[in-house]
Amino acid sequence: MDNSADNTRTRPATAAAFARLARSKFRARFHLAAEDLRYIAEKGLDAIRRHAADFIRTRLAPAQPSNDGRQTPMRGHPVFKAQHATATCCRGCLEKWWKVPRGTDIPPARQARIVDFLMAWINREIKKNEKKETPDETKVQPAPAH
Ligand SMILES: [Zn+2]
Repeated sequence: MDNSADNTRTRPATAAAFARLARSKFRARFHLAAEDLRYIAEKGLDAIRRHAADFIRTRLAPAQPSNDGRQTPMRGHPVFKAQHATATCCRGCLEKWWKVPRGTDIPPARQARIVDFLMAWINREIKKNEKKETPDETKVQPAPAH
């Protein structure tokens, strides 16, 4: 079976990265809140991806990012939460977790992979939230009359 064209499937490398993050209590406690999910629904995932690409390019990618270690707020945008959850919040975390060397510009191809990873995390949060909602929806379905 060839699933190469199936973009909804989590890539094995991404799955392994998520498994590693799940072992960190600090990383695992980040989740999208209702206001984040609303914001994403309003803007659309393409816009969220553009925001993520902008944040990575301007706040993380330069060899010497300004305010490094404190450039990613804890809230205020769903991508910020995604960055803390995925340890892509500062150059220290990028180096410690993902071996992205500090002191050099992050090349565009690597930036794109970071953005893909952030979007994979965001999509997973959206799916988790949908699952949470499903049982309630089925509960309110009236039982078929016999
Ligand atoms: Zn960090």
